[in-house]
Amino acid sequence: MEILVDLHTHTITSGHAYSTITENALAASRRGLKLLGMTDHGPSMPGAPHLYHFGNLSIIPKEISGVKILPGVEANIVNHEGELDIPFSYLAQMKLVLVGLHVICYPGGTSEQNTQAYIKAMVNPYTDMMVHPGRPDFQLDLERIAYKSAQLNIPVEVNNSSLSTIKGKDGARVNCRCFASYMAKYKSPVILGSDAHFWDRVGEFSDALDLIHEAGISEHQILNTSPERVLDYLAIRRKQRLSTAKVPLSIA
Ligand SMILES: [Zn+2]
Ligand SMILES: [Zn+2]
Repeated sequence: MEILVDLHTHTITSGHAYSTITENALAASRRGLKLLGMTDHGPSMPGAPHLYHFGNLSIIPKEISGVKILPGVEANIVNHEGELDIPFSYLAQMKLVLVGLHVICYPGGTSEQNTQAYIKAMVNPYTDMMVHPGRPDFQLDLERIAYKSAQLNIPVEVNNSSLSTIKGKDGARVNCRCFASYMAKYKSPVILGSDAHFWDRVGEFSDALDLIHEAGISEHQILNTSPERVLDYLAIRRKQRLSTAKVPLSIA
């Protein structure tokens, strides 16, 4: 199975990542990727860019070294209501919106509160994909999330960094294995993400691939096997957005 798209990468703009978009794109090109997401952290993460950064993403070239670029964000869930740290008017301009829970940005809570927050963020019409539910930072009902992912057709990530020996955390592998088995059970849409914070990790999926094979997730469930599948999904998502969004689709 070939993974030709990495939608979850960070640049120096995130504050705790160390490569530029050009360096990431060159690395993606060398790995044979066709499509690259530039998803720096939302503003509530220490060191992350301010809103003005996200309002100017249209200046990023559409393609660098033969790799198409999708500029967007990894937005932070900030409360138990599943609200995000970027106004909808900004999200509406973005080509790609990943959403996740992060220490410091989210107050924590019971498993029920965390799961509700995560699922409410999944229902948000501006959310394209959910990231790293397997991280052990917050307790989550992983079976309910996998079920909701299938029901809503919102892909959830198997995050390679969570599994790696460099950045992985205790408990992540067990959680990710458990989550992957639920994703296989409900035939939920899956995305593999490198979550690279340095160019040499862009397109690195080896641990995530081992995990999904072990869990019995089928190739058909994995969205980033082709750029066309990803772009078709995002186009459909934007059409759905137009019919459900409650705010004007432009920055005031
Ligand atoms: Zn993250
Ligand atoms: Zn990330």
